[in-house]
Amino acid sequence: MKAHDGMYIGGEWRPAAGTGRIEVVNPADEQVIGSVPAGSAEDVDAAVRAARAAFPGWAATAPAERAALIGALRDVLAARKGEFAETITAELGSPLGFAEAVHVGAPIAVASSYAELAGSYAFEERIGNSTVFMEPVGVVGAITPWNYPLHQVVAKVAPALAAGCTVVLKPAEDTPLTAQLFAEAVHEAGVPAGVFNLVTGTGPVAGQALAEHDGVDLVSFTGSTAVGKKIGAIAGAAVKRVALELGGKSANVILPGADLAKAVAAGVGHVMNNTGQSCNALTRMLVHRDQHEEAVALAAAAVAGYPSGDPRDRATRLGPVVNATQRDRVRSYIHKGLSEGARLVAGGLDAPHERGYFIAPTVFADVTPEMTIAQEEIFGPVLAILPYEDHDDALRIANGTVYGLGGAVWAADEETAVAFARRMDTGQVDINGGRFNVLAPFGGYKQSGVGRELGAHGLGEYLQTKSLQF
Ligand code: NAD
Repeated sequence: MKAHDGMYIGGEWRPAAGTGRIEVVNPADEQVIGSVPAGSAEDVDAAVRAARAAFPGWAATAPAERAALIGALRDVLAARKGEFAETITAELGSPLGFAEAVHVGAPIAVASSYAELAGSYAFEERIGNSTVFMEPVGVVGAITPWNYPLHQVVAKVAPALAAGCTVVLKPAEDTPLTAQLFAEAVHEAGVPAGVFNLVTGTGPVAGQALAEHDGVDLVSFTGSTAVGKKIGAIAGAAVKRVALELGGKSANVILPGADLAKAVAAGVGHVMNNTGQSCNALTRMLVHRDQHEEAVALAAAAVAGYPSGDPRDRATRLGPVVNATQRDRVRSYIHKGLSEGARLVAGGLDAPHERGYFIAPTVFADVTPEMTIAQEEIFGPVLAILPYEDHDDALRIANGTVYGLGGAVWAADEETAVAFARRMDTGQVDINGGRFNVLAPFGGYKQSGVGRELGAHGLGEYLQTKSLQF
């Protein structure tokens, strides 16, 4: 795999300040496919300086000009779609079809939406005797996870650029090659030097240096709740803006009268896609006790439609998890499920392949709300099915975790489903199979985060208001 031996700073690839390296491993066969420099505080400082220097000029550009450059970036992403998909498949292990359709398809749609919004957004409005100006926050430190290595980057960089901010990106250790390709795309699109900068490196060194840097005005972080709490504390101490997109344990609530077969199949698909490594994965399926056994049989049959194997093989629907640590973590949760008394109906601890970090698609039935597998984010292809007694019980279970990111409700009619969804403590709910919308705000209630990404709400995160009275 192609890898740059440097950092993209000030519009060029520069040698790293230190000698540390990060090896990139293909999780499907455990082979090293490349390496990138591990950035130090010195690299972060150089990147923040470049972003600071570029900020006044970029902030002063007309929104239409920024819109045109984001449109050009979208075009480069689309033109290099195959290259991005192959890279994501190699470093994340995503099945190639899913990589093309979702891992690259979604960011192209997100970039399109910001090319549009940058030109149409009301950066100025008259309220009473005031004119309120929405001004860019400044330099953004973006810290992203590996699970959607291009989407997580575009969901921060596109609105930041639309707002007139400049950016320093520190991507996840497991997927730096996708981030380097993105830097190439930014360059090819003609975005001015210093507006976007990339520092590869580890979280505790480069990530922390970026969050702590005085020259960063806003930290936008996506990742685990544990690290999110640290970033929030750093930002709080420095009184700098912060956006946190964190973990989830989303409930898929199937109410009596819903189309059970459709709801179960869609729910299973939502968990198995991306090998369960989606922050909004519908990992808890809540079914009325009278329908529990039927749902369990349907789910067990549905997971058989997710054969695992080489992600480049078009027949593969389930890739490996991203690395050995995640594989061990997911396995320890399966172990916990068994030891706490959940009933295993599919998958389990047996590794489906000799090489690679594979986990068999796993379904647990008779899960109770207090079990670990019903409370903690597993981030693997593991579904927990929980029986409930009535609507109130279902709501109590749905709301009974520290998280509140996604969710789904299925009912005989939309009105019933919407009424239930309005009582859920969560940021997004799909009604009777409602599809992902790149214009709708995405983000968490409770410990799933602070702030929103995507659409106009996502753009607002990168703006601050100034009101002039006249
Ligand atoms: P992680 O928190 O370990 O890492 C995320 C990023 O933070 C990486 O770039 C990492 O290098 C960096 N980091 C780690 N320690 C740091 C520190 N001390 N200071 C600064 N940066 C640091 O998470 P992960 O394992 O990469 O991703 C999985 C998690 O992300 C899951 O919990 C998942 O739910 C969450 N996630 C949330 C969303 C969302 O939108 N809410 C989306 C995707 C993933």
